[in-house]
Amino acid sequence: MMHTLLTSRRMVRKLSLLGWLLFSLVALRGFAAQPTGPTPNRAPLQANAFNPLPLTSVRPTGWLLRELQIQENGLSGHLDEFWPDLGPDSGWLGGTGESWERGPYFLDGLVPLAYLTGDERLTAKVKKWVDWTLENQQSDGWIGPARMTDWWPNYVMLKVLTQYQEATGDPRVIPVMQRYFAFQARHLNDRPLKEWAIFRWHDEVLSILWLYNRIADRSLLDLARRMHDLGHDWEAQFADFRYTGKTGKKQGMLANHGVNNAMAMKAAAVWWLLTGEKKDRESLYQMLRALDRYHGQPSGMFSADEHYAGLDPSQGTELCAVVEAMFSLETDISILGDPALGDRLEKIAYNALPGTMTDDSWGHQYDQQANQVMVSVANRRWSTNGPESNLFGLEPNFGCCTANMHQGWPKFAANLWMGTQDRGLAAVAYGPSDASTPVANGVPVSIVETTDYPFRETVNLEVKTPQPVKFPLLLRIPGWAAGATVTVNDAALDGVKPGEFFRIERDWHNGDSVELHFPMRVVNSTWFNNSIAVERGPLIFSLKIGECWSHLRQSGPATDWEVYPTTPWNYALVVDQKGAAPPFSVTELPVGYQPFSLEGSPVEIAAQARRLPEWQIEDDSAGPLPVSPVTSNRHVETISLVPYGAAKLRITAFPYARN
Ligand SMILES: [Zn+2]
Repeated sequence: MMHTLLTSRRMVRKLSLLGWLLFSLVALRGFAAQPTGPTPNRAPLQANAFNPLPLTSVRPTGWLLRELQIQENGLSGHLDEFWPDLGPDSGWLGGTGESWERGPYFLDGLVPLAYLTGDERLTAKVKKWVDWTLENQQSDGWIGPARMTDWWPNYVMLKVLTQYQEATGDPRVIPVMQRYFAFQARHLNDRPLKEWAIFRWHDEVLSILWLYNRIADRSLLDLARRMHDLGHDWEAQFADFRYTGKTGKKQGMLANHGVNNAMAMKAAAVWWLLTGEKKDRESLYQMLRALDRYHGQPSGMFSADEHYAGLDPSQGTELCAVVEAMFSLETDISILGDPALGDRLEKIAYNALPGTMTDDSWGHQYDQQANQVMVSVANRRWSTNGPESNLFGLEPNFGCCTANMHQGWPKFAANLWMGTQDRGLAAVAYGPSDASTPVANGVPVSIVETTDYPFRETVNLEVKTPQPVKFPLLLRIPGWAAGATVTVNDAALDGVKPGEFFRIERDWHNGDSVELHFPMRVVNSTWFNNSIAVERGPLIFSLKIGECWSHLRQSGPATDWEVYPTTPWNYALVVDQKGAAPPFSVTELPVGYQPFSLEGSPVEIAAQARRLPEWQIEDDSAGPLPVSPVTSNRHVETISLVPYGAAKLRITAFPYARN
């Protein structure tokens, strides 16, 4: 809100009197963004547990804002300036070049990045792309490049348009979407869904329901049901899950494709909005349990390189799958309201996402590994991916992630807070941010969240309100946070339980403060071949390995890197006879500019370990993970563990040796 006012003032100075009159007329018609509350689901849709707040209601601050600023200064803010697929020849700008998913993918992250940072350079880029789509709708209703006939890329562009409309109030968006969906309803029979569009139907249904909630046209619900009926039956796939091992070289298909599965993490919850049936809610959990059991990785993700790849921590997880799983979980929490989904979202956001990006956000991997001891061109034991998949660079293996990765941090920031059914606010995930929205009967309040979570245990909230107002504040207490406390104006409250939302309903006054304390004990979790991962709060910790970054090639301003280890990695953690690791010692360090880097890491853990000489590199990855417990006659050493997101070389799933 504050930002919008400042921007408006700055714009006003630049405008002539005539321009100002035109601007005022447009503003009066609602074009300028106004602080509005969430739009609840309209009957007969089921009610969301929490309603997403319009884009820009929640703005990142502190270290989380810096992640977005690093993106602005990295690939996200510059990719279109030199990457041909986003150049002036793009089909999404009227050219004859790339005319499929890459333009929309880029925009799906650039829109929230631009409007959350308020960077006018980026909003100008957004405007160029979005204007082309809005101004070049064909007379029959089709949007996008004229020679494209695939429905799938438009699923993404529709997500772009809904976010852009929320941030700007641009009145052109809703009519364009109405005409497009009418076109689709007329043509689904003669132009059926194919390939990706069959497996990703739920992502378009989200946009259909977004529009239905705003214009109440019931034919949209018919279209949503047709999309479901024509789409892949994800619920059936997980009711009888057949893909229990690593996918063979010739067994890759769209049903066992990692990104499709990550996107489909929202399918059951989205479909439940239309059915209200309990089995649809439960199907999400069936899916998560199957992925965890057969393909689960310590980062909260599942392996898929590019297809399901089993439990081995040397298998890979694609960056597109990481950002899509995050968006799916953000959607799921809003629909289902389950705090455990917030725990998983934080785990992926605070580990898998930064762990696969360079510190300056100029390079990313296609596939990350939990045990990643070398980054190099090599034939690893992927299910179906190529030899460049774990490089850090511009477009290792394939350029989908290059276009699609930008949405990760911005959408996460935008979804930290949501609206409750009874016109209050819910914290579904924690990070430094300001949330501004009308509550109760329309009183505009802000919650200022000051914290260095997930590196620290304390979250401070301050309520800002122009008048005393009663509304509920729901605070997610993470499942791992035994002993969590909540105080309001220094008075401790009773009944705080891990794994639940803690509800405070009171008359809030300006300046009221809430302090959350989440004790972060160091714990072990068990993974492949009895290996153990070290966790503290939402962070998992990996062996800090010396890194030698080796320049492989240059593409304009972007570098492709190999990374070689300069210190040993083949350690087994030492545990006592009962299987518990000896006390870990935690050191808190200053929060660096990029906290997910070896230089800026705000926390390190010292642990005891022994070398395991027989565990060696094979195919440029850690060789087969020995089954624990292992024996080693090497002396006990103290090793340093750092957050997974900071360690670009790492061991995360450790063998263990008895003391
Ligand atoms: Zn990708």
